Amino acid sequence: MSFVLTCPNCGAREVTDFAFGGELSSRPRARPSFRELSAYNYFRRNTAGVQREWWFHRSGCRAWFIAERNTTTNHVFFTARPAEVPEAGDPPVAPAGGGP
Ligand SMILES: [Zn+2]
Repeated sequence: MSFVLTCPNCGAREVTDFAFGGELSSRPRARPSFRELSAYNYFRRNTAGVQREWWFHRSGCRAWFIAERNTTTNHVFFTARPAEVPEAGDPPVAPAGGGP
């Protein structure tokens, strides 16, 4: 399935221009237990629905950015540079392609 992602630097491009970097997760505390570190390294939520995730524009500006996407429909709600990502529940910062 193909869809369009909007790079914050380059604009809308086919998803084949990008590399998926995985779901956004929070880092463990400074001295994590073995269990916490294992969970961080190996466990994923694998959400069927809306999640925030990392993307890399490998055929363009080679920047990492964050997208909020519905994993079942590939509708992209927004893309943003990491420092510009709104808190959950805030309105999106930029329109993104992917929807009808
Ligand atoms: Zn780009």
